[in-house]
Amino acid sequence: MLELDRSRLERLIQSEIIKFEKEHPRSNKLYQKACQSMQGGVPMLWMIRWPGAFPIFFSSAKGAHFQDVDGHDYIDFCLGDTGAMTGHSPSESINAIQKQVGKGITLMLPMQDSIWVGEELQRRFGLKYWQFTLTATDANRFAIRMARHITERSKILVFNYCYHGSVDETFISLDKSGEPCSRPGNLGPPVDPVQTTRVVEFNDIPALRSALNHGDVAAVLAEPVMTNIGIIHPQSGFHDALRELTREFGSLLIIDETHTICTSPGGYTGKYGLHPDFLTCGKPLASGIPAGVYGYTQEIADDFWERLDHDQSDVGGIGGTLAGNALSIAAIRATLENVLTQPMYDRCEILADRYEHGIQDCINEYKLPWIVKRLGFRVEYWFREVAPVNGGQANEAIDPDLDRFMHLWALNRGILMTPFHNMALISADTTNAEIDYHTDVFREAVRAVFEIN
Ligand code: PMP
Repeated sequence: MLELDRSRLERLIQSEIIKFEKEHPRSNKLYQKACQSMQGGVPMLWMIRWPGAFPIFFSSAKGAHFQDVDGHDYIDFCLGDTGAMTGHSPSESINAIQKQVGKGITLMLPMQDSIWVGEELQRRFGLKYWQFTLTATDANRFAIRMARHITERSKILVFNYCYHGSVDETFISLDKSGEPCSRPGNLGPPVDPVQTTRVVEFNDIPALRSALNHGDVAAVLAEPVMTNIGIIHPQSGFHDALRELTREFGSLLIIDETHTICTSPGGYTGKYGLHPDFLTCGKPLASGIPAGVYGYTQEIADDFWERLDHDQSDVGGIGGTLAGNALSIAAIRATLENVLTQPMYDRCEILADRYEHGIQDCINEYKLPWIVKRLGFRVEYWFREVAPVNGGQANEAIDPDLDRFMHLWALNRGILMTPFHNMALISADTTNAEIDYHTDVFREAVRAVFEIN
């Protein structure tokens, strides 16, 4: 089996950093200036985690490509970590967005398009009632609040190494001895998340049962397939058990489709017939214009309505002045009607297939101890031989140096991967030639790392 020479890897990283710096002088200059007004030189904290010595500054983006201020062109497999899953600035939505910009952006009033969108979300996801937010994080926060209000229970349950946005309750993980603890890196938690949250491993039905058995869990918040610590598929029977157990113990089920919306136009829920009490989604729904949604069943709606003090509904902790604004609504309508359609999914699946096979062939050719995983048109390679079945296992398999090298190597050759893992989301605008180019770049990276001539 091929052995990874760590000192060789370190040398390769250093030479890629030098290449990166040499080829991005303008980004570097802008970054130095940005450091004077934004801490870390970035508009949002996590952007310090890009693989180069500084982030590249983009100048424009369209479809599957973007250009940077140094004149490089990139194939974008990051696509704003799903926010631009539609392809950048899709022409099919731009007209509607531009029209709405000239007709009023935010009023705190409903508009006719909101009804179209509500009905379309019903059709796609099978849930009766819909509400709007600006982000998936808020959709999750509001679904959790409703669940707590209805059940009068204090806790939520999440799976180890999940990510659902900056929702306080979710920053919990299991330590080495399997005890819950605040997730490493959790910044200024309002309370220790152990007080608000139960956490178990994904795919662990007995652990789920005993956690729910405490009778204090208002809701389980879950991605139907974990995507944020890498793609982890549910084992056969897991979703049935999750639904049965939540019902048995009186906990509600919130399914977060923000990333798994790449499975089908109705997400994983639509494709595999899940029956959650709530469904949340955000990111690509409005072609990149901020928008999130949460839907729930008739039963939840009835229960909630009965417990709602209408006169206090504006100060109840669920809200947002700009939520459901006219621009977001018009953009969601245009996106659902014209972009996130079955033909788009069909095309993306074919491209993802090609991408997956390109990597798999290379893994086979060099007998790499790696695997490739796929969900819809989200594809990812892992530096381990066996697919992890839960977040704990997935976390152990992370190799930050190898990650950094693969990202930087790709970036220096005009390919942007999703940060934090080796994931590609494939836009419908990508061509076969671009997928094959990625395969070549991947193969060259492998040959460089393992010194294969
Ligand atoms: N849910 C999931 C599954 C996510 O992956 C994310 C972000 N990566 C969110 C929610 C939060 O999205 P946002 O940051 O747009 O609120």
